[in-house]
Amino acid sequence: MRRWLSAPRGVVLLALLTLGVALVSTAVGYEIARHSDENLWAEQRTALRNATSEIRTMFAHGRDIDQRFVRMIENSARLPDLKFELAPSDDGREVQPVIDGDGRIAGFFTWQRTAPTTAAMGALMPYIAALMIVLIAFAIYSLWHLGLAARDLSETEALAQRAADQDKLTGMPNHAKMVELLDLALAEREPGETTSFVVFELDGMADVTANFGVLGSDELIIAVADRIREAAPPEAICGRIGSDEFAMLMTTADNVDVDAMVAAVLESIARPHWLETVVRVSAHAGFAQAPHHAATRGELTRRAELALRAAAGKGPGSRVAFDAPLDKVSTDQKFIQRELPRAVSANELELHYQPIISAHGGRIVGVEALLRWTHATRGPIGPAIFIPIAEQMGLMDTIGAFVLRRALQEAKRWPDLYIAVNLSPLQVRDGSIVEVVRSALEDSGVPPSRLMLEITEGVLVDNPDEMVRRIEDLHGLGVRVALDDFGSGYSNLGYLQRFPLDKLKIDRSFVTALGASANGGVIIQAIVALGRALGLSILVEGVETEQQRVLLRLAGCDEMQGFLFAKPAPAAAIDRLLAQQKRGGGMTVPEGPAAQSA
Ligand code: C2E
Ligand code: MG
Ligand code: MG
Repeated sequence: MRRWLSAPRGVVLLALLTLGVALVSTAVGYEIARHSDENLWAEQRTALRNATSEIRTMFAHGRDIDQRFVRMIENSARLPDLKFELAPSDDGREVQPVIDGDGRIAGFFTWQRTAPTTAAMGALMPYIAALMIVLIAFAIYSLWHLGLAARDLSETEALAQRAADQDKLTGMPNHAKMVELLDLALAEREPGETTSFVVFELDGMADVTANFGVLGSDELIIAVADRIREAAPPEAICGRIGSDEFAMLMTTADNVDVDAMVAAVLESIARPHWLETVVRVSAHAGFAQAPHHAATRGELTRRAELALRAAAGKGPGSRVAFDAPLDKVSTDQKFIQRELPRAVSANELELHYQPIISAHGGRIVGVEALLRWTHATRGPIGPAIFIPIAEQMGLMDTIGAFVLRRALQEAKRWPDLYIAVNLSPLQVRDGSIVEVVRSALEDSGVPPSRLMLEITEGVLVDNPDEMVRRIEDLHGLGVRVALDDFGSGYSNLGYLQRFPLDKLKIDRSFVTALGASANGGVIIQAIVALGRALGLSILVEGVETEQQRVLLRLAGCDEMQGFLFAKPAPAAAIDRLLAQQKRGGGMTVPEGPAAQSA
């Protein structure tokens, strides 16, 4: 492109123009010269005719004429080499008959016709020709240059086009290109064929970046792209459509088992990779098919994404084909988007509390505040569903501040308990959270040491240095910080050392594994031991059975939380529980009308 701009385009055009002007002016010059010569010839004939008519009497038929007289006429009519002949010679000379006094032809004047102007032009011709040659050479050179520049331009354009269509890292078609190819595939699909659009999302790439840096994660992405290409059926087109997302597009006969093909790609991705050391990365996939699930590109990609979200919910390695109920979830999403702002301003959101039990002695030591929203017609809507939407809509600041203030206000009823409040990733990322917490504490009068803020692993990965400072600032207020859902996503033990945390909340997925598999207990024991070695207090979430409680106690955890002890319930239920505990009774909370489980 730059070459094209720097090519002497002006000079080229000027050369072409000059050449054109030279050609035209030469042609015009010749025409003028010819015209001027023709005029001369006409004048000469007229002069000759005048001269002879005046002296007509001097001629007599067949008589020679005095040569001096001929010379006189030759001079006056400016006719070179004028001769008077009785019979005209046939040598190409100009001829004009002379009529005598009797009206008969007395003889003929003949002369040599000359073309002085044209001759003069002719004399200039070598110079003009030389100039032309120079100009033509210059024009050819310029045209050639122009051609090069144009070719250069088309090459650059082709390169630019390819770059615009391609993902730089993997060389695969990028998102825009995949969309274009999908359009094409849909247009070309024949009856009896199915076009499938599969979206793969890698799990835990943030963890890879944290451990191996950006270059390491790039290397892994390239390796994953190769695995996908290898495992995909030959008719499939594979592309990279996001930083952690790949897509596979294929048109097959209706009876082809696309699900098995997707499974093969997932298995291939999950095989160990080598980046300095062995790295495992998994992916989940969602897909939709035309014409079965959707006819248009927009619907097909949207439904494939919905299936992908469903697969993400099922966990690493899962795959989900689009199914009509998934659409229901997305309409729910629209419904929530419409209703949530109203619910926030109408104070429809409230808090429930779930007791946290000491593993030694079984007493309630704290409560976790959990958001609840009961919609007038739809009933309860879980926080895991509406909080991500609130984040997208920019409502989380308002909701987060409400939770903190309300939880601290209600905590005043339970002076012996600590109160755990969840912070959404967006809240933690925003530096103003420190001030929000400070003012909520100040307004409530609750000692900061009673507040436990729960953050999740994901937020630590994105910007570790800033998060270390954020946690330190929160510590500065006197509050404590817990890492929630540990083990649900990134499972990076490195964080535990890096971030100044106070408590580790082990995700309930580990508890589910307890008893189910032989090494479930070993893993939890290892995590508990490591956490304790780092000076962290260990809480295990989601304890549902007596067997789990016993095993966890043996594993050495400090606190437990789960349906076995109590479900989240309104503040009044906590009052009753505490009263019951005081009387020495057991630990059960009846499920309140709005109490929900995760
Ligand atoms: P979380 O902070 O890990 O909260 C624990 C979740 O596990 C709660 O779900 C709780 O009801 C559920 N749970 C507790 N014990 C058991 C058990 O024994 N078995 C089972 N199956 N589930 C149990 P919930 O209330 O639906 O909250 C889901 C998530 O929503 C929370 O996970 C938290 O991440 C988020 N969340 C809830 N309230 C808030 C809030 O006020 N602010 C923010 N930012 N997030 C919140
Ligand atoms: Mg929590
Ligand atoms: Mg949790």
